[in-house]
Amino acid sequence: MEDTLPLLAFIVTFIVWFFCVAAAGEIGGQRESGGMGFMFGLLFGPLGVIMAGFLDGRQRCPRCGERVNRGYSLCPHCGLSLTWTKVNPRIMIVNDVSEAADPPAQENSR
Ligand SMILES: [Zn+2]
Repeated sequence: MEDTLPLLAFIVTFIVWFFCVAAAGEIGGQRESGGMGFMFGLLFGPLGVIMAGFLDGRQRCPRCGERVNRGYSLCPHCGLSLTWTKVNPRIMIVNDVSEAADPPAQENSR
């Protein structure tokens, strides 16, 4: 029966590892870092889940520096008007209109 113990340990480790990969990917995915979270889980297992908690792929608001979820038209922290590029949604162009109270003006389409 001594031979089954290493196998059992391997299977348990594999299952735990699998859940770590899934958990790390999920945690990273909540902050647009699913790929990195997945890799952390795969490489570091339980440690990777903890590391995934520190991942944050979201863009920073150029005015206040807080993380902003993709697609937000206004910074939820300081109210800065944000414009997102369509080609690469991770890059953000800012409409830095200082008068945030102004109604959205008609923009010339290029
Ligand atoms: Zn802001």
